[in-house]
Amino acid sequence: MAFDYVVVGGGSAGCVLANRLSEERDVTVCLLEAGPPDRHPLIHMPMGIIWMMRSKTLNWNFYTEGEPEMGGRRMFWPRGRTLGGSSSSNAMCYLRGHPADYDEWAALGNPGWSFADVLPYFKRSENQERGTSPYHGTGGPLNVADLRSPNRLTDVFIDAGLEAGLAFNKDFNGESPEGVGPFQVTQKGGRRCSTARGYLKPVRSRPNLTVITDAYATRVLFEGKRAVGVEYRHQGALRKVGAEQEVILSAGAIQSPRLLMLSGVGDRQQLEDTGVEVRHHLPGVGQNLQDHLDIILVQACTRPVSYGITWRTVLRGGVDLVRYAHSGRGMFTTNGAEGCAVARSSPGETRPDLQFHFSPGKLRDHARDLLFLCGEGYSLHVCNLRPKSRGDIRLTSADPAAPLAIRANYLTHPDDVEHMLRGFKLARRILGASAFAPYRGVEIVPGDKVQSDDEIRDFIRAKAETIYHPIGTCKMGDAARDPLAVVDARLRVHGLDGLRVVDASIMPLLVGGNTNAPTVMIAEKAADMIKADRGTTVQPRAIRAA
Ligand SMILES: Cc1cc2nc3c(=O)[nH]c(=O)nc-3n(C[C@H](O)[C@H](O)[C@H](O)COP(=O)(O)OP(=O)(O)OC[C@H]3O[C@@H](n4cnc5c(N)ncnc54)[C@H](O)[C@@H]3O)c2cc1C
Repeated sequence: MAFDYVVVGGGSAGCVLANRLSEERDVTVCLLEAGPPDRHPLIHMPMGIIWMMRSKTLNWNFYTEGEPEMGGRRMFWPRGRTLGGSSSSNAMCYLRGHPADYDEWAALGNPGWSFADVLPYFKRSENQERGTSPYHGTGGPLNVADLRSPNRLTDVFIDAGLEAGLAFNKDFNGESPEGVGPFQVTQKGGRRCSTARGYLKPVRSRPNLTVITDAYATRVLFEGKRAVGVEYRHQGALRKVGAEQEVILSAGAIQSPRLLMLSGVGDRQQLEDTGVEVRHHLPGVGQNLQDHLDIILVQACTRPVSYGITWRTVLRGGVDLVRYAHSGRGMFTTNGAEGCAVARSSPGETRPDLQFHFSPGKLRDHARDLLFLCGEGYSLHVCNLRPKSRGDIRLTSADPAAPLAIRANYLTHPDDVEHMLRGFKLARRILGASAFAPYRGVEIVPGDKVQSDDEIRDFIRAKAETIYHPIGTCKMGDAARDPLAVVDARLRVHGLDGLRVVDASIMPLLVGGNTNAPTVMIAEKAADMIKADRGTTVQPRAIRAA
């Protein structure tokens, strides 16, 4: 079996590539996805995200190593493991980041990645239900919508943000991402619009597109320095698939570097230490790991309005399930993070450095703590948008089934905890605003005892968690300027032929927002580059299936 393109990973990026590359009918594309098809109904029901967090089969359930600045805690890192990848298990918040984030990518030596360059790809991907504008597109596969049945507490949060001095922002992806307002979400008709639903499903019947699920890629196959195929495990057997043009890794920020390392591409010393034969020394693979660290304040609610598990919501659940099934409305359409604020922690910040997610329910441990979800309450997340701490991902063994060593190294840069501290204080101000007065019960987390700056810092170290945006482990950059660059501005792996990485791992720096929309944009842009380069950089070859 051989195809023109083999795409590894059917996630946010992989589904976009499968669609765009197979638009050309004379091109054959194979998409390998380690997880099963996305048939489970709770994938598509927005509130099903609570269940996705606990799934043993549709979630990779990674853990970091003990984090040195977080009391040695091993942090839970969920990632989607089905068609759509993490876009099938994420919170659907649609936020692209700050325009200057992309200008910064370009200034690092990545021509073609300024905001002006990438905006057309954001627009191309989008079906913005509010219509077109200079910042938004319609007719694209990714449906972007307003929440159909927002909780009334979300309006209260917005009023509280205004009281705290933030400006109202109806469109965080318009002129400026700063202010407070409702999130737009990647949903269609009240159901999740993953990239599997938006991009893949409509084109599954194309004869030139082959999708293989439950196919875990174990390494890239090479002839010399040229990628010629992929080895993968499927139905208990090791198989091979050939790539006559290119192999494209879209396995995400954790697993694209893993695959490169398993294939002998990475830091020479590290690979030798784990018993992997070195194919190409590329020291940046798995380095430059960045993530948004997040702390949650939780408040009891004195009125029966939240989405906490109570007799009221259980009884209402039956009615709302029918509403959901019939009209895609009601509480099951909540994405769990309905209100957004983007703000500066101090006037000296040149760009907003904080993002807040407001949830109309009590959250702890990624909503895995169902007991804590019981009772009326609401939560406010705050994260530092541009952390300076850097982590890494390493193999622990040459065995593709062995666990990875993930170190986020959260808060190892001293500035990071100070942004979080200021963010925490602003979060408390918002929750303390008079708009919340009719609803405000006691502060459950962290509670009254946490007051001084040191107490807040300790609380952050003890309780902060990921808000699920790991990036940067195959970073894009100019190899002449940056020894840790893994791919060039056309996303080709430095020093190798026929191999690209296209997913969140190529971001050189975190954007000041959520990472799904930027990943979709990256894949849209990559598809154009791959099409333009077709036949120019590689020679046809063939690997036949084993
Ligand atoms: C719980 C959660 C909530 C989030 N909330 C939001 C949000 O609200 N808004 C937002 O913008 N972003 C959010 N994100 C982040 C966003 O979803 C991700 O940044 C984005 O999906 C990353 O896309 P990707 O293509 O890089 O990786 P993924 O979408 O994770 O895709 C990688 C795919 O590769 C597959 N794969 C991995 N290894 C192999 C292998 N060896 N062989 C074959 N297949 C393989 C995986 O199963 C997966 O399907 C969230 C993420 C999570 C996990």
